[in-house]
Amino acid sequence: MRTKSTETKKILKLIRPSIRELNAYSIDESPCRIKLDAMENPFPPTHQVSRAIGTAARDALINRYPDPFARKLKKAIAALWGMNPDLMMLGNGSDELIQAIILTFGGPVLIPVPTFAMYEITSRALSQSVVTVPLKKDLSLDADKMLKKAKEVEARVIFLACPNNPTGNRFSDIAVRKILGRSAAAVVIDEAYFDFSRKTYLPELKRFPNMIILRTLSKIGFAGLRVGILAASPLIIEEMNKIRLPYNVNTLSQAAAVAALKHKDIVKRQISLLISEREKLYNALVKMQGITPYPSETNFILFRTAIDATRIHTKLKQAGILVKNLSKPGRLENCLRVTVGKPEENLEFLDKLNKIIRITGKG
Ligand code: PMP
Repeated sequence: MRTKSTETKKILKLIRPSIRELNAYSIDESPCRIKLDAMENPFPPTHQVSRAIGTAARDALINRYPDPFARKLKKAIAALWGMNPDLMMLGNGSDELIQAIILTFGGPVLIPVPTFAMYEITSRALSQSVVTVPLKKDLSLDADKMLKKAKEVEARVIFLACPNNPTGNRFSDIAVRKILGRSAAAVVIDEAYFDFSRKTYLPELKRFPNMIILRTLSKIGFAGLRVGILAASPLIIEEMNKIRLPYNVNTLSQAAAVAALKHKDIVKRQISLLISEREKLYNALVKMQGITPYPSETNFILFRTAIDATRIHTKLKQAGILVKNLSKPGRLENCLRVTVGKPEENLEFLDKLNKIIRITGKG
């Protein structure tokens, strides 16, 4: 009789080496009272929005496949952000669109680091090589090094998150336009945090035919619906549509997002409140001894701690507050990332953090 471990080994041998070497995207599912780890909008749908979604779900024909082109949803998103619905492709979150881009163009994929983890994970999952260029010490983009590397390795795709996750800053327009204008690669400008920076490259799509813009509904109140948006030239959209799975945005998500976006005034009010909360949070963190926050144009703040960040992270968790621990040797040593929450959540976070650093700092 064959042992279990022989069976396991046989199966593992069948798995592509690029997958076996991967580490999964880490999600901390610890129960918590105050969830400030995943850049979500802290406000659940209002009664008005819930009712509209309920009606839309009741009327949805889920016996049929979804609209493969999600036409109504594209129109609603186009109206929200002033986009052209014909130059759009939607995905099951922008995560899926990142995968579609890498499938379409292939590698080498060039990214600055640190940046959003899925660019690298997805490239590796698709057996495409990844080349990295560190951000400068002040977390700005080294455009010259990026261009040099892009040429050297013949990069086919460059991902630039503008603003960047997990650093929170927006790279300078000069650096980004330099890469857009001078590189032969497809340059993805990931504007997942657009609503919190209110700056975009969208009007420059014609000027830069190699540019692809990504947006998402996840950060503005609808992470659970999984709706990502891609905008690019008709040529890129046409090619990418060949590999997009036919019904990648399900009927209920399409219907719920259309219903929710009829109430964009609510979304816009929440965004304004979160931006003002971000400023309050930043100003309070600046004043805290042993804490160095980085300026943010997103709905989160990266901060460095003078004492062991992992200890602070654990203590916050024990107090029921979940933030993201990014600490590892290099640029992010002793760094934590806090998502802007509701006003009372931010106050409690600040209060607990203050107490923890005073007690831990002494110990
Ligand atoms: N891009 C960036 C820069 C992000 O930070 C995230 C989410 N953390 C995503 C894309 C993925 O968003 P979605 O929920 O649309 O898949």
